[in-house]
Amino acid sequence: MASTTTNHDDDIRRAAQLLLSARHVMALTGAGISVESGIPPFRGPGGLWTKYGEPPMNGYQIFLQNPKKAWEERLNPTGPSKIIWDTVGAAEPNPGHYAFAELEHMGILQCLITQNVDNLHKRAGSHNLVEIHGNYTLIRCIDCNSRYPGSEVPLHKLPPECPQCQGTLKSDTVSFGEPIPPDALDACYSGTQLCDCFIVAGTSATVYPAASFPLAVQQKGGILIEVNLYESELTPLCNVSLRGPSAEVMPQLVAAIKELRQ
Ligand SMILES: [Zn+2]
Repeated sequence: MASTTTNHDDDIRRAAQLLLSARHVMALTGAGISVESGIPPFRGPGGLWTKYGEPPMNGYQIFLQNPKKAWEERLNPTGPSKIIWDTVGAAEPNPGHYAFAELEHMGILQCLITQNVDNLHKRAGSHNLVEIHGNYTLIRCIDCNSRYPGSEVPLHKLPPECPQCQGTLKSDTVSFGEPIPPDALDACYSGTQLCDCFIVAGTSATVYPAASFPLAVQQKGGILIEVNLYESELTPLCNVSLRGPSAEVMPQLVAAIKELRQ
């Protein structure tokens, strides 16, 4: 892996120019931007799953077989899910999250796709957001896809029932073996069709389907901009690769766009 280097102002300016001349900009973020907010990664040394146990690869099928039991485990105050979600809940958005929200408010960024479930993009002010792996603060109906804030769902009867369709409610976070919710996937595909410039930040973009969106844009001649600590498989395809943490690089990019617009 290449080491982290300081970006030349030229690279930042070039990325800013590409973003300003694009018609429809999308972005994809992953675990790297969460790690910068102090959330440990799930895997690897010190990872949340390494410490508290990796969820089963057929977690969704286990849920469907016995939703009541899955809910009881989730709500167990000394169980691993409670500890993991408390850790995530203690994190705050970082300057990288705020920079993405600002890009949206400036009219530059049309749609932000995140693989993260930690709610930090929303808390930083992003609205046009697709959380393809769900959001840990939400509960979703597996029958009609309605989502509810976790605090508003009564839990006296398990599994809780969807107020709209009486379907089964589950945590919005996508389990292993669970399909990506179709509304999220549709938003990604329809955005990608319009997109001519894609920013990939804090992820090596190797997990499908997320990885397919920047690739699809690149294959039809769109621009790819990468913000990452290290080189990735995507690097050779990128028009500009900015090395460094999103919390440093993204605010620099926002500042460069503002300067060019003056
Ligand atoms: Zn429902």
